[in-house]
Amino acid sequence: MRPLSELAASEARGLRGLLFDLDDTLLSHGVLTRLAYDALWSLADTGLRLVAVTGRPSGWGEVIARQWPIDGAVTENGAIAIARERGGSGVTLSQRCTEAERHVRRMRLAEIVREVARVVPEARLADDVDARRADVTWDIGERVKMPEDRIAAILRVVAAAGARSFVSSVHLHATFDPDDKASGTLRYLASAFGEDAGAATAAAYAFVGDSGNDAACFGAFRITFGVANVRKHMARIPVTPKYVANAEMGEGFAEVAQAIVRGRAGA
Ligand SMILES: [Mg+2]
Repeated sequence: MRPLSELAASEARGLRGLLFDLDDTLLSHGVLTRLAYDALWSLADTGLRLVAVTGRPSGWGEVIARQWPIDGAVTENGAIAIARERGGSGVTLSQRCTEAERHVRRMRLAEIVREVARVVPEARLADDVDARRADVTWDIGERVKMPEDRIAAILRVVAAAGARSFVSSVHLHATFDPDDKASGTLRYLASAFGEDAGAATAAAYAFVGDSGNDAACFGAFRITFGVANVRKHMARIPVTPKYVANAEMGEGFAEVAQAIVRGRAGA
């Protein structure tokens, strides 16, 4: 991973948008700091499309896509995209499956929840599950600290049920949806802006993240940034970010933003 000082001005100028993770990337221990929010506005002011790409619920995406200076949010690890309506204050939600299919998948996820409760009785669902549509999520690092062997036990139950899983710094997600953060983001960029996946990943969009559920985006996009705490999650990230910030979480995000804004200004 290279220092942010090596970001080429041509890379910064070639960007049409920045994609960014929320937890432990933009947010610091769940909090949107003044510094990080200001960085978001600086990026918006430089004309970049901004898209949050998160494992957080689609219900949260509906809120931030209305309130923040962003174009949309790809939520639940790529399953559900929320786009801010052009020229309006409303949002549009898109997903790959029908509501009938969603209902069936949710019934199957409920079975997994029951099985996890049997095999790992101490497992606790995340406190944001009621705002989710496509996945079920356990808390592994937000309000509790789940040991690695217990995380592995939950992952075995999820895999045995034929579901897919994602692990972030705070959550373990199970889903029957086929997307990851990269495929869900590319689907959103194509539908919202007519972006071609090849151009988007080669140079037009960059990604900032920190942990295992960001691995797909670190692999798919050529210009990628890690905040400093990405170093703690290398075991779950096969392709490392191209650049890394000195600071962790929101402070690191602000560093990334500053490097991009400077590069675009040619300063
Ligand atoms: Mg994260």
